[in-house]
Amino acid sequence: MGVQNPCSLLVVDDDQTIRQLFSSALGRQGYMVRTAALGREGLRLATENPFEVVLLDINLPDLSGIDVMRQLVKTTRTIVILITGDDAGYSHESASQDGAADFITKPVRLPELVRRITQAREVRVLTEAKERLIAELERLAIRDELTGLFNYRHFQGMLNGEVQRALRYERPLCLIVLDVDHFKAINDTLGHVGGDHVLAGIARVCAAKIRTTDTAFRYGGEEFAVILPETQFAQAVAVAERVRQAIEKSELVQGRGVTVSAGVAELRPAEDGETMLRRTDAALYAAKRTGRNRVSMA
Ligand code: GH3
Ligand code: MG
Ligand code: MG
Repeated sequence: MGVQNPCSLLVVDDDQTIRQLFSSALGRQGYMVRTAALGREGLRLATENPFEVVLLDINLPDLSGIDVMRQLVKTTRTIVILITGDDAGYSHESASQDGAADFITKPVRLPELVRRITQAREVRVLTEAKERLIAELERLAIRDELTGLFNYRHFQGMLNGEVQRALRYERPLCLIVLDVDHFKAINDTLGHVGGDHVLAGIARVCAAKIRTTDTAFRYGGEEFAVILPETQFAQAVAVAERVRQAIEKSELVQGRGVTVSAGVAELRPAEDGETMLRRTDAALYAAKRTGRNRVSMA
């Protein structure tokens, strides 16, 4: 990791000798150093200016360095390295629990200080890369790549969670399942890639027509689902009808329209997610059987 280059740095220490020593030695190395003699002043400077690193003395006349650090890690992304003359009252362990990147006992020689600063910055870079990677993996695990909607895996977890919540608090919960009509024929006309575009378009229309508290999923190849918490049956049927009409009116396939069939169900007392889904699917197949391009109620 390339963090050899010096960075902006704040030294907070009530000992003038230390401030001068650190600031001239690190300044010679290229660090952009500022100093503060008091905790409050350090806190103000570090809040106003984004220092990459703060070297923070624990024993300060006005505030404890620990309190300054707790504030800083809460409100900034500054790397805090605690420096103390005696480590009797405070351990490495509690320092890192409180958010310190490192804990250095005075006296410290310059090369060692620079090494510890560099190391703390390297750890920060790696930690941030790891966090980004984990967030991206979590996103990929629950998203469908083609449509950007949540995928089937997330659907299962979320349906069960919402069912449990609705039963416990005796709240209404509805589910819509949509299936594209004669999608095989659309694929035959447009090819598989063209069909994919149509699916992405249907997902966009669907997501645009539901409320922010409702969640849309790509449930299967050309099947979609919407979970509607806090929603009565009649409202959910109206949402399904709105989505159906919007897709029918959209010109996703030029020349010939594209339509969907939908099934809607409301959770029954003591029902589980699986049973509710089965009933919704049955309603969908009723919509298919009775002519397609329609909403059918479970
Ligand atoms: P129905 O009205 O009865 O639903 O007719 P249908 O042709 O839509 O029904 P069926 O379920 O028999 O066929 C679905 C088709 O959707 C078959 C499959 O090739 C296609 N399909 C499934 N997933 C995808 C996908 O990701 N991309 C594309 N382009 N096609 C897909
Ligand atoms: Mg299907
Ligand atoms: Mg279909």
